[in-house]
Amino acid sequence: NAKSAGRQTYCLFRKGMGAEVRQRREMEKDLHAALADDQFELYFQPRLNLATGNIVSYEALIRWNHPDHGLVSPVEFIPVAENSGQIIGIGKFVLERALAVAAQEIPTGNISLNVSPVQFRDKDFIEDVARAIKASGIPANRIELEITENTLIEDDARALSILTKLKDIGVKIALDDFGVGYSSLSYLSRFPFDCIKIDRSFVLEAQQNYNALAIIEAVVRLGKALDMRIVAEGLEDTENLCLLAAQGCHEVQGYLIGKPVPVNKLVRVAPKAVLAALDQIRFAAELG
Ligand code: C2E
Ligand code: MG
Ligand code: MG
Ligand code: MG
Repeated sequence: NAKSAGRQTYCLFRKGMGAEVRQRREMEKDLHAALADDQFELYFQPRLNLATGNIVSYEALIRWNHPDHGLVSPVEFIPVAENSGQIIGIGKFVLERALAVAAQEIPTGNISLNVSPVQFRDKDFIEDVARAIKASGIPANRIELEITENTLIEDDARALSILTKLKDIGVKIALDDFGVGYSSLSYLSRFPFDCIKIDRSFVLEAQQNYNALAIIEAVVRLGKALDMRIVAEGLEDTENLCLLAAQGCHEVQGYLIGKPVPVNKLVRVAPKAVLAALDQIRFAAELG
């Protein structure tokens, strides 16, 4: 089928000298057409509050429907777009589309958007955020911007100044993919995060590795002391759910709760099995 064939087409270019450069050039060309031809689409993945069992938030995740290559993963094309600067246009698209969709289809709960380090440092970024929010009519405090540690390492003072301006607009800020990368604990005290998202690989590790689990417990405690919400990413089974609930995580996101889907398939309530597991966790907690 076109999808799997397409993925392979891009990968084939990886072999051989100069092929990588050629592949990147070709993708840049295709990305240019993608914005003009409306080939990007946003999927939405739910986030569950463990205390209430409610879906409290949706993360917008970009998808590229390539005319020849089928669905291309953001893991593949975001780095290329960052390198070429095309991420600025793509980021604006995500901002505007996500808020427009949310205004129509998501009456309650928050909307999370991923922000690239390149986009974050663009001179128009703060203005773009303010304008998109105003145009959508959505209260700023329902919008959360997810940034990663890469965004912060370069120029501390500048990053802090941008974050402060974003907070002034009223949006929430989440630190995404925590636990991989640099993960300096001092980031948590220096920058005004509302939320820490513990990376999926770290969550997975906690299932097998007592040290990883102990670190999650410490991060939860630290986050709570700093008045931040702790979200665990990449939950795939109820065992993991129990583990993270026991550590005191506030919210979880992952295939167990719902995969990223187009807005017409939006997951509005958690699966029954998840709600039943939460009931059991609560029951066990009451018994002490
Ligand atoms: P992320 O922000 O950490 O997003 C979470 C990724 O984990 C998503 O992959 C999601 O589909 C996947 N995921 C969620 N739950 C599970 C699970 O239970 N199991 C597994 N195996 N995976 C799970 P996706 O959509 O492919 O996005 C990958 C990354 O691409 C994102 O990581 C983010 O860094 C980037 N990205 C996606 N959309 C955007 C965007 O609009 N702008 C920017 N700048 N980056 C984006
Ligand atoms: Mg994210
Ligand atoms: Mg993440
Ligand atoms: Mg990420």
